[in-house]
Amino acid sequence: MKVYIHYVEPAATSLHQTLKITLPRKWEDGPIKNLLETFVKNYNDKHPENELEIDGIRLETEMLEYLSPSEIVKERINDRADLYIKLGARANQSSTARDLTAGGLANTGIDELDIVRVCKHFGCQKKFTLRTNFDGECRYHSKPPVFHETAKYWSCCPHKKVWDFDSFVQIPGCCTGRHSDQKPIGNQYLGGNELRGNTASQAKLKTVDEFNAEQNGTAEKPLDLLKRALVTVGCSASDFDKARAELNKRFPDNEKEVMAEFATEFSFGLHNVIGTTGGTGPPPVLPTS
Ligand SMILES: [Zn+2]
Ligand SMILES: [Zn+2]
Repeated sequence: MKVYIHYVEPAATSLHQTLKITLPRKWEDGPIKNLLETFVKNYNDKHPENELEIDGIRLETEMLEYLSPSEIVKERINDRADLYIKLGARANQSSTARDLTAGGLANTGIDELDIVRVCKHFGCQKKFTLRTNFDGECRYHSKPPVFHETAKYWSCCPHKKVWDFDSFVQIPGCCTGRHSDQKPIGNQYLGGNELRGNTASQAKLKTVDEFNAEQNGTAEKPLDLLKRALVTVGCSASDFDKARAELNKRFPDNEKEVMAEFATEFSFGLHNVIGTTGGTGPPPVLPTS
């Protein structure tokens, strides 16, 4: 058995070398390391000005397949194969496999089922393989996160608001299922602007200033109108007053911000109604304004 080992990495062709090795029979059952060592010794004798370190190079086939020094020659290499010395070692074949993502599968001989993928479900982000992706492996949120003012929460779990990121990532998912490397459809996160803009553009909500200007300053305030409307459809007047008082405390003398908060909260209420899949389907696709 013969192999041709080429080293053509340096820019200067004077540093290139091709070595033809005729393997002793017993080397065919031995490790590929023997080929590397033979090449390095031969090369360094001829190029003392550019010595190669065996730990700093690797061997690849014509098809750019990595050949681990510990693999058996006859299991990986054909007679009269052209092999290439590349700079940079790879620890071993199994660590290479571990680092592979679905996008990097090419001539590796690794089973599709064993490719490491990253779950794209909201709030999961765990690594998984198809081989071990059973029901219940994934705990995730069904709808996108909301980053509004300094609050952070999942739009499927609006009652669990937190203010720092560490607590945010610890909010347990509200759904279980299998991991998926497909990105959920629709917005990947929502901010106050999306929620507010959304409501405003759909309802053509006037700003406080516009509203007052139109009414010559004599109009009932929008929040009073809102309260009347809510009470008319059956909501609790005192709950509304408490919520309004709470928001007035958080945003003193800032009626616009209080209205914006109401808009955000009502948007969630509306989206809870729109989401007819019971919280396990894709998040609602919010139109951007
Ligand atoms: Zn959730
Ligand atoms: Zn997952």
